[in-house]
Amino acid sequence: MKKTIYLDNAATTKTSLAVVEAMLPYFSEFYGNASTVYSLGNESKRAMNEARDNIAAVLGAKSEEIYFTAGGSESDNWALKATAEAYKSKGNHIITSKIEHHAILHTCEWLEKQGFEVTYLDVDENGKVRPEDLKNAIRPTTILISVMFANNEIGTIEPIREIGEIAHENGILFHTDAVQAFGQVPINVDELHIDMLSASGHKLNGPKGIGFLYIRKGVKIRSFVHGGAQERKRRAGTENIPGIVGLGVAAKYAAESMQERTAKEIELRDYLIKRIMDEVPHTKLNGHPQDRLPNNANFCFRFIEGESLLIMLDMEGICGSSGSACTSGSLDPSHVLLAIGLPHEIAHGSLRLTLSEETTKEDIDFTVDKIKDIVAKLRSMSPLYEDFVKKSEK
Ligand SMILES: *Cc1c(COP(=O)(O)O)cnc(C)c1O
Repeated sequence: MKKTIYLDNAATTKTSLAVVEAMLPYFSEFYGNASTVYSLGNESKRAMNEARDNIAAVLGAKSEEIYFTAGGSESDNWALKATAEAYKSKGNHIITSKIEHHAILHTCEWLEKQGFEVTYLDVDENGKVRPEDLKNAIRPTTILISVMFANNEIGTIEPIREIGEIAHENGILFHTDAVQAFGQVPINVDELHIDMLSASGHKLNGPKGIGFLYIRKGVKIRSFVHGGAQERKRRAGTENIPGIVGLGVAAKYAAESMQERTAKEIELRDYLIKRIMDEVPHTKLNGHPQDRLPNNANFCFRFIEGESLLIMLDMEGICGSSGSACTSGSLDPSHVLLAIGLPHEIAHGSLRLTLSEETTKEDIDFTVDKIKDIVAKLRSMSPLYEDFVKKSEK
């Protein structure tokens, strides 16, 4: 069988063996319901508390500020919908950015239909929100600012501390979608003035279908799933103990290994970027050159379709993405690439490669060699490229 080179870790990651091993006993050995009084259930409760403590420690938060959810999308929905509801007597205005994940953008669109007003901040050509724009957007009725920690397509890390400071100077709550950043960059919720933070297990070598929302103590936020008294009565439903255990182990490992792991990823990422930019003409690097996720590279190759490139890379065993997994399948170019000012025809030629701890230099060399061949082949079939070459020969 051909080797798979998996370079789509922003879409999802492999669940690590250590995580799977930690989860296994909680399926058929310690399967008790954490809300029961007998000791079988107590073991579930103990394991859940340990996971909560581990996650809280990573963020500099208190254990009781961590609420387990079914993943990043639920955490984002909860943070926005429930604060909008709880603070609507104070105001109806929310500020976010144009480059958020659809879990935020589509929730904001829904809130607009419920009578809330939403400002979608522009970003600069590297994908950063300008703190000045944020200040200018604030109204007396602003109740919530939600800006992602790092972008899932182009990897840009946002000026979170400045945004948090502006929010708190103005008495406004600050939520950040940190699904891509949690486990990849150091995060302390107090230092960064974060009131709510979303994260998801499957983006950091944990299991799918489990995530959490950090909610700072004192933030008024309504329960999202109604039913039993789980998660301090704010999120009903029998807890996903194996998932919670897996997420706890993944978070702990990610924090402990962060420095060494990301240093290695940054080195390989920069090698990948350098080779592509040096060896493939008419190529643009998307996202901030320095302030970007350690494992993210995102390019636009002029005169080609990103989808064709992906299919041909797949035939070589290479998994990449044209942007976010959620946008592929539609032919609209990525809203993120349009927001950084790329014209449609260039945005269509995008490729996102996201590395993991297991990615090797050999993987990168093989991938770059294939990209060079495929891009040249696709361009040789492109009438646009032919026109371009003719014009430049004149
Ligand atoms: C993946 C992702 C989500 C959604 O998380 P799920 O756990 O898949 O629901 C939300 N925001 C960002 C930035 C993401 O990358």
